[in-house]
Amino acid sequence: MKIIRFKERGRVSWGVIKDEFVVPLKTAPFSRILFDFNKIPLRKVKLELPVLPSKIVCVGLNYRDHAKELNMSIPKTPIIFIKPVSSLIGDKGLIEYPSSVKQLDYEAELAVVIGKRCKNIREVDARKYILGYTCLNDVTARDIQKAEGQWTRAKSFDTFCPVGPWIETERPSTMAKIKLYLNNKIKQDSDISQMIFPIDALISFVSKTMTLFPGDVVSTGTPCGIGPMRHGDIVEVDIEGVGKLKNTVV
Ligand code: MG
Repeated sequence: MKIIRFKERGRVSWGVIKDEFVVPLKTAPFSRILFDFNKIPLRKVKLELPVLPSKIVCVGLNYRDHAKELNMSIPKTPIIFIKPVSSLIGDKGLIEYPSSVKQLDYEAELAVVIGKRCKNIREVDARKYILGYTCLNDVTARDIQKAEGQWTRAKSFDTFCPVGPWIETERPSTMAKIKLYLNNKIKQDSDISQMIFPIDALISFVSKTMTLFPGDVVSTGTPCGIGPMRHGDIVEVDIEGVGKLKNTVV
């Protein structure tokens, strides 16, 4: 099931895509899915940001192929950091290249959307607290990240967190392909089996530090092939079984 937020006649609602239509939901999709039976043609709606998180938790260095490319050893525990909600944009949103940044990098990532409040959960229980999965681009000012050590500023400029286009409730397969295209040229090409800490282990780990709320986003790191973007570039994160997120750099 593909859960969206959409705008139609000036009003933003939750909905589910069914074929060429949107079936609106009566409430947010967290406690239950309550359909409204007025179908709207998909072409008549504008997709909005599919998540309204209280926080976006990200993981640094979580793919074996990426650790290898950076010549770094495999971390023993996940290194997590937070991007602010002010950095969010949706599918087709514009990534603004700050004039103070010298190198603006893409990072294709699979993101998890939390469905139920959780704290201190076990890895085997993690799935019960997940609503679904979406594509995320962990846009990074690489020059600032290297210069400052502390990652917050490098990861937090407005528009540095494209997410979408929807929440896919079905978990991608363990070998799902994760790709990034820059102007239609493939730049990242891996699969999620390369993750050092798998999805459920990460959710459990994060929940042992902080309470996760419905709608919170936990991003699972990027594979090898990271690189820079320039003004006018079209960047797409494509995850098999999840969707394709497209943004333009301005
Ligand atoms: Mg990242």
